[in-house]
Amino acid sequence: MAENKQQAEQLDVLAATQSVIKKALDKLGYPDEMYELMKEPIRMLTVRIPVKMDDGSTNIFTGYRAQHNDSVGPTKGGVRFHPSVTEKEVKALSIWMSLKAGIVDLPYGGGKGGIICDPREMSFRELERISRGYVRAISQIVGPTKDIPAPDVFTNSQIMAWMLDEYSRIREFDSPGFITGKPLVLGGSHGRESATAKGVTICIREAAKKKGIDLDGARVVIQGFGNAGSFLAKFMHDAGALVVGISDAYGGLYDPDGLDIDYLLDRRDSFGTVTKLFRDTISNQELLELDCDILVPAAIENQITEANADRIKASIVVEAANGPTTMEATRILTERDVLLVPDVLASAGGVTVSYFEWVQNNQGYYWTEDEVEGKLEAVMVGSFENIYNLARVRKVDMRLAAYMIGVRKMAEASRFRGWV
Ligand code: GLU
Repeated sequence: MAENKQQAEQLDVLAATQSVIKKALDKLGYPDEMYELMKEPIRMLTVRIPVKMDDGSTNIFTGYRAQHNDSVGPTKGGVRFHPSVTEKEVKALSIWMSLKAGIVDLPYGGGKGGIICDPREMSFRELERISRGYVRAISQIVGPTKDIPAPDVFTNSQIMAWMLDEYSRIREFDSPGFITGKPLVLGGSHGRESATAKGVTICIREAAKKKGIDLDGARVVIQGFGNAGSFLAKFMHDAGALVVGISDAYGGLYDPDGLDIDYLLDRRDSFGTVTKLFRDTISNQELLELDCDILVPAAIENQITEANADRIKASIVVEAANGPTTMEATRILTERDVLLVPDVLASAGGVTVSYFEWVQNNQGYYWTEDEVEGKLEAVMVGSFENIYNLARVRKVDMRLAAYMIGVRKMAEASRFRGWV
């Protein structure tokens, strides 16, 4: 019983994140009041969204929007559509967005939203209605200078377009800076769709240099074939790495000689499902323990835990998903000298290019793909170096170093404003 409780606590992403925030603030010498401010979002809205379904019935969905801290600037972060969304998860995700903004030095705090629903079982029109309903429900607390949504798990540029349209109708003016991850024709940015994977690729390259691993021929395993996982598989393949394993929510594929990535990309559906086409699959747990050099969890939370951390064979783990590794597993991997690049750094490429998109919307002047990529490269390399070096100097793991850097600007801004 006690053991079950301990395990449940380890899988509680909010409690886990709070414990690292506390450590980071202690290391930086902030008083307890600062932790009290940072441990929860400053604002959390729960909404009920009635949606007319195609069969004539009405479903009432529950959604959330969390705004963690707006001392630095407006809050920013994605909206996920997923059956397992919870209030706690959305809160933790908003804290992670604050940390990402601090790490890559954006003028934002963190925000996050989610709706409990299964978009895989909804029609195109039902998805449009739920997207518009969500914006109507949260419209009072969001806006281009308040809180700026974006895509996340199972949401995409089409959903951003419906949300933008609904917001513009409510406000009665064109407002492209309300949301990022939009289609290009509505003011989206070049390079936004692949930005998370680009950022992860840069982190993998930098981590490989530190470990003396040549990317050409390195064996890579990627868990998840959604936006981040699928673009990443392509980038790794193009860089000469052997992608030996990939997976989706239903299972994994393994080939020690390297998978045919172009074929898999061609056959995946818009939710990243592809393994259903194959008979010879492995489980997601088996996938994580495959023999490889680089492991990239790019799916959901709590995948690497104390139950399997001992059996991870990769020497580099780069977290493209939010929260895939528990704190206990972080400790085990660090003790085993696995280089763990934490989510708040590795997945910050998405929000970085979202910021570029918002800047372009604000100035009404648009950049080329090369400009976007060049700026992203500089931001990610600089952020990786800062965190890697701080971890070495302060003798802490990269997650704690990332939290220390991520929380600092927000803590300073809160102090200057006289909040703490
Ligand atoms: N949902 C993405 C993340 O978790 C991107 C957020 C954004 O672009 O604002 O980082």
